[in-house]
Amino acid sequence: NIIKRIEQVEDEVKSFILFTPELALEQARLVDEKIAKGEDPGPLAGIPMALKDNICTEGIKTTCASKMLENFTPPYDATVTQRLREAGAILLGKCNMDEFAMGSSTEHSIFHATKNPWDRTKVSGGSSGGSSAAVAAGEAYFTLGTDTGGSVRQPASFCGVVGLKPTYGLVSRYGVVSFASSLDQVGTLTKDVKDSALVLNTIVGHDEKDSTSYKGEKIDYLKDIQKGVQGLKIGVPKEFMEQDLSPEVKKTFEDALDTLKGLGAQWESVSLPHSEYALGVYYIISSAEGSSNMSCYDGIRYGYRTEDFESLEELYKKSRGEAFGPEVVRRILLGTYVLSAGKYEPYYKKAMQIRTLIREDFDRAFEKYDVLLSPTSLSPTYPLGIKTEDPLEGYFTDTATVPVNLAGLPALSIPAGFSKEGLPIGLQLIGKAFDEKTLLQAAYAFE
Ligand code: GLN
Repeated sequence: NIIKRIEQVEDEVKSFILFTPELALEQARLVDEKIAKGEDPGPLAGIPMALKDNICTEGIKTTCASKMLENFTPPYDATVTQRLREAGAILLGKCNMDEFAMGSSTEHSIFHATKNPWDRTKVSGGSSGGSSAAVAAGEAYFTLGTDTGGSVRQPASFCGVVGLKPTYGLVSRYGVVSFASSLDQVGTLTKDVKDSALVLNTIVGHDEKDSTSYKGEKIDYLKDIQKGVQGLKIGVPKEFMEQDLSPEVKKTFEDALDTLKGLGAQWESVSLPHSEYALGVYYIISSAEGSSNMSCYDGIRYGYRTEDFESLEELYKKSRGEAFGPEVVRRILLGTYVLSAGKYEPYYKKAMQIRTLIREDFDRAFEKYDVLLSPTSLSPTYPLGIKTEDPLEGYFTDTATVPVNLAGLPALSIPAGFSKEGLPIGLQLIGKAFDEKTLLQAAYAFE
């Protein structure tokens, strides 16, 4: 049925880069066989899902929506892919994204832009826009995305679904194509909070293949999810509220605070004094790490190679020049600039110092509060095409999401209302490091 659904709506929404119905049916047959033999088919047996196209899938192309990897078929699964397979989930295909996860609208893909299922003249958000649109359009029961500066939460907010970015290190990054290694985290996109907990349960757990993987004990995120918010202390970051929020987002936010109060939670305004620097710090650090991660694409080891070259130098230059799109080139230029001699101290080093101050702001807030609440994005989704001309316009939409990645914290976006035009508006809950449990309980009560 879901295959039929995809066939019906995919032309309009374009969530997928690659749709693999035959492979899905084959996997479903294997699950049936297990059940027939009386074996345990796994907690997600038969559940159809899809993965962002920067998550490696053995024998299935993983392109990062880039000409550079257009024909790259990984010989192995990412750890998250493998865990989902073992849990019995059925892979339907690979979801569209901004090239190498750099962007906020899923318009920077070499294949096509993904449209917002609620209004197909608007963007789905990004960079995991294919993953969020697929869930919103009923093309998958859940999907995985990645979040370096908001790429799971912002498209979740634009498409009216739940998007969870776990604490840095909780979910293995092995087999996930890196953008900025100290910020990247795999996240879930689901219809509701319970599904997020269920999927999170299957993808967490220590992984030797990722040196930053968390070694703590495994927690059951579904257990006690209905605990409620009675007595919960919520902090509202003042600086996030002082930004240029659209009136509809503001109203949705204020209504949410009333609802939470009604459910027995208390809230207060809290200051995160360094958050005004977060956006600048994020674009310096993510581009620096991104430019370094992009250096492996040299036209030699794997990926695109130019056809016509006379020297090694020319091979590098032409392969990279022909295969990287403009947004990726922009990040590489910015990243190499802030890492170059003479610029390292005033930009990169300073950004790292401010990153520590941003983390300390959150530490102080969490001495007093259990969770923090803010809008996910300054506005609901916007028309396709309007922010591609001026890249800075696109960067400014990430103000509430990037501080969370800089501090390595867990956060999720939940649907909280609609604009007059009928566009979804999401709110962001931020939790203490490795306290996804409280975060999910608070979100569930709100739902
Ligand atoms: N929009 C942000 C950027 O362009 C975040 C991307 C992400 O989280 N992958 O860098």
